Amino acid sequence: MPEVLVGTAVVVPTPRRSWAAFRQAYLFDYNRASLRFWLALTGIGVLALAAATLQIVALPLIEIGQILALMLIVGLAAAFPVEIPRSQLLLSACDVFVFLLLAQHGPAAAALGAALEGCVASVRSAPRLSSRIVTTVNSATAIYLSGAFFVWALGTLSTLGMPNAGANLAALALAALIYYPASTIPLMQVLHLKRGTSLGLREWFTSTASIGTLYLGGSMVAGLLYLNSEHFGASVTAVAVAVAATAVIMLRAHFGQQIANDAAQEAQLDAARREAEQNQQHFHAAFTFAAIGMAIVAPDGAILQVNKSLCALLGSPADTLVGMPFGALMHSGDAALLEGHAEGVASRRDESFSIELRCFGPGQPETWVSLHCSLFGDTSTTNAGLIFQLHDITSRRRAEGDLHHIAYHDSLTDLANRSCFHERLSGAVQRQRADPRASFAVMYLDLDRFKIVNDSLGHQAGDQLLKIAAGRISAQVRSGDLVARLGGDEFAVLFEGVPGHDEMEKLGARLLVALAEPVSLGGTEVRPAASIGLTFGDTGDRQPGEVLRDADLAMYKAKADGKGRLAVFDDRLTEQIGHKLQLEADLRRAIEEGQLSLAYQPLFELEPYRLCGFEALARWVHPVRGRVGPDVFIALAEETGCIEALTRWVVNEAVRQHAAWWRAVPAQSGDLVMHVNVSGKDLAKPHFVANVLGVLARHDLPARLLVLEITESTLMEHREAAMAALAELRAAGVKLGIDDFGTGYSSLAYLSILPFDCLKIDRSFVIGMERSPQNIEIVRTVISLGRSLNKEVVAEGIETRGQFEQVKRLGATIGQGYLLSRPLSPEQVEALLAEQDPGCV
Ligand code: C2E
Ligand code: CA
Ligand code: CA
Repeated sequence: MPEVLVGTAVVVPTPRRSWAAFRQAYLFDYNRASLRFWLALTGIGVLALAAATLQIVALPLIEIGQILALMLIVGLAAAFPVEIPRSQLLLSACDVFVFLLLAQHGPAAAALGAALEGCVASVRSAPRLSSRIVTTVNSATAIYLSGAFFVWALGTLSTLGMPNAGANLAALALAALIYYPASTIPLMQVLHLKRGTSLGLREWFTSTASIGTLYLGGSMVAGLLYLNSEHFGASVTAVAVAVAATAVIMLRAHFGQQIANDAAQEAQLDAARREAEQNQQHFHAAFTFAAIGMAIVAPDGAILQVNKSLCALLGSPADTLVGMPFGALMHSGDAALLEGHAEGVASRRDESFSIELRCFGPGQPETWVSLHCSLFGDTSTTNAGLIFQLHDITSRRRAEGDLHHIAYHDSLTDLANRSCFHERLSGAVQRQRADPRASFAVMYLDLDRFKIVNDSLGHQAGDQLLKIAAGRISAQVRSGDLVARLGGDEFAVLFEGVPGHDEMEKLGARLLVALAEPVSLGGTEVRPAASIGLTFGDTGDRQPGEVLRDADLAMYKAKADGKGRLAVFDDRLTEQIGHKLQLEADLRRAIEEGQLSLAYQPLFELEPYRLCGFEALARWVHPVRGRVGPDVFIALAEETGCIEALTRWVVNEAVRQHAAWWRAVPAQSGDLVMHVNVSGKDLAKPHFVANVLGVLARHDLPARLLVLEITESTLMEHREAAMAALAELRAAGVKLGIDDFGTGYSSLAYLSILPFDCLKIDRSFVIGMERSPQNIEIVRTVISLGRSLNKEVVAEGIETRGQFEQVKRLGATIGQGYLLSRPLSPEQVEALLAEQDPGCV
C-alpha cells in the first residue's frame, strides 16, 4: 500500500480560481464579446508562439544563435525607440529586424522576434497585463500569417522566373502589407467590442496608416540588408546594426532635446492658457458683481451683456435689456451724442471717453449717469465690441441743479434773477445777430411807489406785494417767456419770437391792468401800479447790457410821463439820457453859482379869507435850455445826491427873504409863515436840524414862522431817521407839514404820533373833485381826519371857484392854488404885501 502523507496539505490553486482572479484583476471591464475575442486572439497567438518555438528549437545551434542575436537586437530596438516630436510616431528599427528574421530564417523566427517586440513595446506603453499579453501574442500570429504569404510569394515568384532579389523584395512587401492589418485590426477590434462599437475601415486606416508605412519601409530595408548579406556576407548585417544603433542614439539625443523644448513650450502655453482662463474668470466675477453698472455692447449698438448693478440702475431685468439698442435707453438728444463719441472709439480714433447723460430704463424715471466707454474684446479685429461703465450721478446732478437754481433764481419770487436774465438775453441777442428773423423784446417793469408800501406797511407786506406782482406778470406771459426779478421792485421779461410790435404793446397794456388790481396787504387795501419800458431786439445792434439799459430808459420815461403806463424805447430817449447827465452836471453848477431862484406862492386862510403865508418854490433858468421845471430838477437832485446842497440853499434863501419882509413890513407880515419844501432825505442827514436852526438864528427869524413841508411818500421812506430830526425841529418851535397827503400809505396810527402841524391834501384830489365824487370823499375824509387830530388842513391846487367853495364847505382851513394866486417873484410879493391891509383881503 502506498504511504499516505498525512499532516501536510499542499494547496495547489485550481486553474478556475486563478482565471477568475485574473479576469477580476485585468479583464473586469470586458464584456462577453470582447472577452471571447481576447481569449481567441490570445489562444491563437499562444499556439502560433508554441509552433514557432518548436520549429526554432529543431534548427541547428548555429542558426539558433543567429536568431537569438537578431532577437536581442529586436528587443533593444523596441526598448529604445525614437520618438518623433509633435507626432504620435515612435520610430523603431525593430520592424527592420523582424522582417530580416523573416527573410533570413523564415516565419517562425520572425514570430518570436515580433512577439518579443510586442512584449517590450507593450510593457513600455500599456499598463495592463491583459493588453501586454494580447499585444505580444497577436504580433506573433500576425507575422506568422504574413510569413506564410512571404514563403508562398517567394516560391511562386521564383517559379515564375523572377530574379531572386526582386522576388525577395516583392514577397517582403506583400508580407508587410499583410502584417499591417493583421497586427493592428485585431487589437483595435478588442477595444471596439469592449465599447460595443464597430470598427470602421476608414477609422482603422487613418489611425494606423503611419504604422503601415513604417512596416513597408522596414520590410524594404530588411530586404536590402538581407540581399546584401547574401551577397557580401553577414558582416553587412553587423555594420547595419551598428549604424542603426548609432543613428538611434543620435536621433534619440536630437529628438529628446526637441521634445524637452516642446514640453517646456507646452508648459508655458498651458500656464498662459490657465492665466487667460483665470483672467476670464476674474473679469466675469468683476463684471457680474461690480458696484457700477456695466454693459457689453456689439459694434452695431445692441446690448450683449449687462451686469446686476446696471439692471438695478435701470430698474429692468437682464433679459429685457439684452438685445436692445443701447441708445434706446438714452434721452433722445443724449443718444446722438453718445453715438458720435462711440463711433470715435469703434473706429479707433479715440481710446475711450467719458460723458454725462440722461438714461431711462423701460418705464423708469430719468437717471443721470456718468458713462465711460472703451473697446472690449479682441481689439485687433473690427468686430471688437464696446464696454460701457455707468455710474449713477443723479443726486450730484440734482444738487448741482439746486445750486444752479439758487444761483439763477430769486429766492423770494422764485423767478429768474439778474444773472439768469442776462445770460438768456445774451443768447437772444446772438441769435438775432445770426438770424434777423429771431426777434425778441424786453420789458422792464418797476412798481410805482413800492418803497412806500415797504416802509409804511412793513417788509412782509412789501414781500407779499412783490410775490403777487411776480405771479401776475407770469400769468400774463407765455410759458417760454422769461420773467425775472432784477432786484428791489424791478422786474424784466424777455420775449423771444415776438409776434409784432403792436401785440407787444397790447400785452404791456394788459400787464398794467393786471398789476393795478387792488391788493389787500395786512388789512390795508393797496392799489399797486407799475411803469413799463419796452424795447425790441430789432431796434439796433446792441450788447445785452445796452438792451436792458434801453428798456430801463423807456421805463423811466413811463414814470416821468406820469407812472402807471408803458413807454417804448426809441433813440431820442438815449439823447434825453445824455441830456440828463448833462443836466445833472449843470444843476450842480447852478446850485454852486446861484443860478436858482425862488418863487413864492401865497397861502390863504379861508374863513375869514386872508393871506397867511407863502410857499417857497425853487426855480431854475438854465443858461441854455431856459426854464427847467422843479419836477425835473428836484427829482434829478434827489437821484444824484445834490438835494442836500439845494435844500440848504433854498432854506437859507427863503428864511433870508422872509426875515427881510418881516422886518420891513412887520405889520403886514407879522403872522405870515414861510413854507419851505424839504426832502425826506434831508431829514436823514445829521447836520440838517443844526443847519436850519443856524439859518433862523443868523437871519433872526422866529422859528414859528418857518413851516417845513415834507411829502408823505419821502417821509415814509426815511421814517426812522426822520423821527429824531422832526422831534428836534418841533422842540425848537419850527412848524411841520405833510405835503401831498393821500398819495402815500401812512397808517393812521402812525400819523397821529407824528409831530405835524398841518396836512396838505394832494392837489390831484382837489383838482379831481369836480370830476369824481370819490375825490370829494377823500378830501372830506382827510379834512375831518386833520381836524380830529387838531391839525391845520391845507387844500392846494385850487383852480376854480367851485373847488374853492367845496373845500371851504368841507372844512379846509387854508387854501392855495392858481385861482388864489400863482407863485410870485419877490417883487410881486413885496407889492402884494404893500397892498395888504392887515386882517382882510
Ligand atoms: P408842491 O410842493 O406840491 O408844490 C406845489 C406845486 O403845485 C407847485 O408846482 C405849484 O406851482 C403848483 N400849483 C400851485 N397851485 C396850483 C394849481 O392851482 N394848479 C396846479 N396845477 N398846480 C398848482 P411847482 O412849483 O412846479 O413845484 C412842483 C413840485 O416841486 C413841488 O410840489 C415840490 O414837490 C417840488 N419843489 C419845488 N420847489 C422845491 C424846493 O425848493 N425843494 C423841494 N424839496 N421840492 C421843491
Ligand atoms: Ca409843497
Ligand atoms: Ca403838494
